[in-house]
Parts: sequence; structure tokens; C-alpha cells
Amino acid sequence: ALAAELRRLDSALPLLGAESPLELERLSRDYYDYSPVLVPLLQGCRAQLVAGATTVEQVLLVAGACARQGVPLTVRGAGTGNYGQCVPLQGGLVLDLSGLNQLRQLDEATGVLEVEAGALMGAIEKQLAPRGRALRLVPSTVRSASIGGFIAGGSGGIGSLRWGFLRDPGNLLGLEVVTLEPEPRLLQLDAAASAPLNHAYGTNGIITALRLPTSEAVVWQQLVVGFEQWGQALAAAQALTSTAFELNAITVLEAPLVSQLPWPAGCPAPEPGEQRLMLLAAPAALEVLPSWLAARGGALRWQAPQGQSRGLPLRELSWNHTTLHWRAQHPDWTYLQMLLPQPEAPCLERLREQWGDDLLWHLEAVRQQGAARLAALPLLRWRGEEALQQLLDDCRRCGAVLFNPHVISVEDGGLGVIDADQVAAKAAYDPAGLLNPGKLRGWLNSPG
Ligand code: FAD
Repeated sequence: ALAAELRRLDSALPLLGAESPLELERLSRDYYDYSPVLVPLLQGCRAQLVAGATTVEQVLLVAGACARQGVPLTVRGAGTGNYGQCVPLQGGLVLDLSGLNQLRQLDEATGVLEVEAGALMGAIEKQLAPRGRALRLVPSTVRSASIGGFIAGGSGGIGSLRWGFLRDPGNLLGLEVVTLEPEPRLLQLDAAASAPLNHAYGTNGIITALRLPTSEAVVWQQLVVGFEQWGQALAAAQALTSTAFELNAITVLEAPLVSQLPWPAGCPAPEPGEQRLMLLAAPAALEVLPSWLAARGGALRWQAPQGQSRGLPLRELSWNHTTLHWRAQHPDWTYLQMLLPQPEAPCLERLREQWGDDLLWHLEAVRQQGAARLAALPLLRWRGEEALQQLLDDCRRCGAVLFNPHVISVEDGGLGVIDADQVAAKAAYDPAGLLNPGKLRGWLNSPG
């Protein structure tokens, strides 16, 4: 009935139904298979219908029809999330926004960007660069992920060393949102009103466009630095966060990971046991940085400007791309995400003693509430759910803050706390609870 209503309302709206089972399956998935816990929970979930909107009018039309017929609607950007964020737990309609992708405006005076939600970040970067601007924060999936999906599902990434996390005030200036009601509204939300939709997995509004600050474009220099000892690499990363070198990323990788990553063309293969730092540095830093690193035991192995090297750029070896490359060779491994306590070394040592080579360390420097910190995305040999629980407890005991990638809800993947503003936004913009049902625990638990 929903398909018939949508065809009647707009015969040009791209629709996929039961006649395209493979497409329905593909567009109901993301990268949740990084988690052996999520696979059995999510692999059977399928949409019955996929609509591909290319205009805001079409989004309004689909939202209204779903609300009138009581059909769940799950928004999909590019489907690169890791926790089944865009998997329709209760079936219904998947709204594919990849075609809603125009850059509407760049204010040359303020650098404020207005862009439609389905635009891929790589494409946005290409349009901003000739105008001397860049996105502040991008995930390592920058080439393939949408800006709407990043705000609704992501948390941070390359640039987090300078700009913190997506939910930090100042990183999102406003949203254009469609509500899920029989007569849907098109709202223009300011920064404060947009905050509850930031990292809400599309459970409390359909984002059609975003207003974001941009930063000055820099031709980041990609540096690979080798160390003999893990302690040296860790100390250099820690010390770098309190220097005045202009850096956009600091990644620390332990030797077993280093030995198996696909390094960029021209980057020498690692020596046995080599630990590595990967840096994105502004050109001016290059005068002093190599000797600064050498004084701490680091040898510059490779250097090339971002966008001008062959093979994988360093961005695609960092954040969860490290996990991707490792899992390509070791599919029985998974990963964790956490913010390490300070100082980091005692926690890392304790976990190393407890878990040995079942846990391989990958660190990313970030700014959290204004202070430099190290986040960790360690690779984990899968030994079952009981062992995972034990490890989570061990991490918490040593003071780490976990962002568990083996859970479905917004809250459980964060600090575990219900955000009343997210729930209130859902009551206001999705009163029947049809948007991505099952993902907002605060809504499931709310008395209404
Ligand atoms: P999708 O997966 O399509 O959607 C994500 C969530 O947002 C879903 O809940 C969906 O319903 C919702 N959503 C999408 N569009 C809208 C909209 N317009 N309105 C409302 N809700 C919407 N994430 C990071 O934060 N940092 C990283 O560095 C990072 N690295 C990654 C590396 C790899 C190899 C992989 C597989 C994933 C990584 N991710 C990372 C996760 C993911 O790629 C990013 O968060 C990405 O930005 C998600 O964008 P997407 O378009 O694919 O969103």
C-alpha cells in the first residue's frame, strides 16, 4: 500500500521493492560484520521498500506517506557505519539519501558551508579545496561516506586532534530537518536545536541539509616515522600533543599491525619489530619536525603531500581503516574503541600483561573538552562474548572510557546515559516512533 501511495504521489521517485531482493538486502546493511556480536542480531533485518530521494520535496512526500501508513523509516547515507546504525531492525522503508547531494552555499567571508545531507565528504572536499577551505573533521571513510551520515552516526576522526569530536559545541551550526508526521514539517534548526540530532542515528529527524564551519585548506604532509621501541613511539606521540607543530593527525601503531598494513607506494617496508607513527603535518612543521623526532628515536621513513601520493593515503590507514586492513587478513579478529586514562602507559601495560598478543594497540591523538588525549582502537582476537565482557571490565578498571562497538543503541555505544534532549526531539519530530525504531533506548524506556 505504501509503494502504491508513493507511486501515485510521485511517479518519478526511485523505488525498489520485492522484485529487487538483492538490492533490498544491500541497502539494509552496513559494516556491522566487524562485530561478531552484532552479526547474528542484524543479518536477518531487511527493508521491504527502498526509496531514493533526490529532492527535499521527495523526502517530505516519503515521510508523510510513512507516517500516514505507520511504516518504520530508516535513513541511509552511504551505509558505512559500523554498528548496524542504518539497518532497519523492524523492516519497513529505507530512505536512501545519496542522491540529495548538492553543495548549496559556501559563505566566503565566514567559511560557513551549507550542504545537502547525502553529499559524500570526498566530493565536498573537492569542491571546497579550490576555494581555500576544507571540512574540519572527516572519518577515514571520507571518500565513501555522506556528511549527513557522519553527523548522525559518526563521532570524529581525522582533524579530531585540532577540532575535538563532532558533538563538541561549534562543530555543527545548524540543520534542515524533515519531521515524520502525516503532514511533515521542514524545520530550520539553529546550533542549539540541532544538538539532539547530532549522533542520534537518525532516530529523531531526517536531516536534509547541514550548516558547518570549515577550516582553512592546508596541503597536509603525510609522514611515516619508525621507532625501535613501543615506549619511544608512545612518548613521541604524547609529547607531540604539547608542541606547537601544526598537526591534523597523530596515529600510533604497534609492530604486529605495522608489519601487515598496506603502506603507500614508495613507503619502505617496516624493519622487523618496527613501531610506527603516522602524522599529518602542515608544511611549515617540516623544517624542525624530522630532527625533533630523531632526538626521540624516530626515523622519518616516508613523506608525501596528501592527495599527491600513490596507493593508499595515510588517512585510509588510520581510525577504523586500520581495523579494515587487519580484518582483511584476519577475519576472526574484531576491535574496541576507548579513551585512555592519563597517564596512558600504566593502563596499556596492565592490559598488555592481562591480554598479551590478543590485543594489538592502535592509538589516535584527539582533543577532548579542550585537552589532548589518546583514543585507542585496539584489534582484538575474538574468543567469544564472555572474554569480551571480561576485557571491557578490565579496560574500565584501568580507567578507560569505552565506546562499545558491539551494541545497537545510541546510548550503549556512547557513555551508556540516556540523553533527555534526544528523546524530547524524538517526541517532537517523530511522535509515533517510526524513525529507525529500536536504536534509541531512551525512547523505548520512556513512559509515553
Ligand atoms: P550511514 O551508515 O548511512 O548512516 C549512519 C547513521 O546515520 C544511521 O543511523 C543512519 O540512519 C543515520 N543517517 C544517515 N543519514 C542521515 C540523515 N540524512 N538524517 C538522519 N539520519 C541519517 N566513523 C567515524 O566517526 N570516524 C572514523 O574515522 C570512521 N572510520 C571508519 C572506517 C571504516 C573502515 C568504516 C567501515 C567505518 C568508519 N566509521 C568512522 C563509521 C562511518 O564510516 C562514519 O561514521 C560515516 O561518516 C557514516 O556515514 P554514512 O553516510 O555511511 O552513514
